[in-house]
Amino acid sequence: MPEGHTIYRYARRHRDLLVGREIIAKSPQGRFRGGAARISGRPLLGVDSHGKHLFYRWHRTETLHIHLGLYGRFRTFKSDPPAPTQGTRLSLHTDEVTIYLAGPTVCELIVPSQEDAIRARLGPDPLQAGIDGNTVAEFATRLERRRIPIGAAILDQSVIAGIGNIYRAELLFLVGLDPAQPANEVAPDKVEEIWDKSVYLLQRGVDEGEITTVARPPRASRDKTDRLYVYQRERFSCRHCGGPISTGEMANRSIWWCSSCQTRT
Ligand SMILES: [Zn+2]
Repeated sequence: MPEGHTIYRYARRHRDLLVGREIIAKSPQGRFRGGAARISGRPLLGVDSHGKHLFYRWHRTETLHIHLGLYGRFRTFKSDPPAPTQGTRLSLHTDEVTIYLAGPTVCELIVPSQEDAIRARLGPDPLQAGIDGNTVAEFATRLERRRIPIGAAILDQSVIAGIGNIYRAELLFLVGLDPAQPANEVAPDKVEEIWDKSVYLLQRGVDEGEITTVARPPRASRDKTDRLYVYQRERFSCRHCGGPISTGEMANRSIWWCSSCQTRT
């Protein structure tokens, strides 16, 4: 599933390509035919994201809400787009670009009160740090209410928005925290450290277009785990202590950690 940095990059790219343009919207697959008809022919006013959610503002009272989920993806063509595949939920055409969306979990038109409800449910987004309620204080408040392991809590989008499975494992390694530690018992300085590192790492992901957590990644990496500390690295030893990398399951997703470097506080 794409993590927050990828969604943020889509919002930025789609803003550049689509805002202010007249857009012909269609639903080749048919499942969003009514919605596409309502936005087609109208100029798009803005695009933004929160965590893994995208919001396209077509009109003051009409917002297109997209969540890619596990299988959703966009394809963008500057010229000569191929015919849409059967699964294309939405196509957006301007004079210069065609964007196809297939397989999203959510593609719907919503009104402002629905958008407010979605945003209120979501935890703060490190990529919007300092804006509105996207603060370490809000993160700490939401974390304090959870007795689940910290490794499950930071994957919960209502606690912090945009963290996926790679960032989860890497953040906990970088702050030296055992994933099993109950979220409400994490020391305040560690909570702050998780937030600060997520702000830094997600922004780095936006800038580089991929997730890198090690300070100096190899220039030509053969494997994406060359850029990481623990995620999918159970066949390697820990970059810090040389010990084994453990793997298990938490919140229905695999997780990796170093049991020597990551302890309870
Ligand atoms: Zn270690």
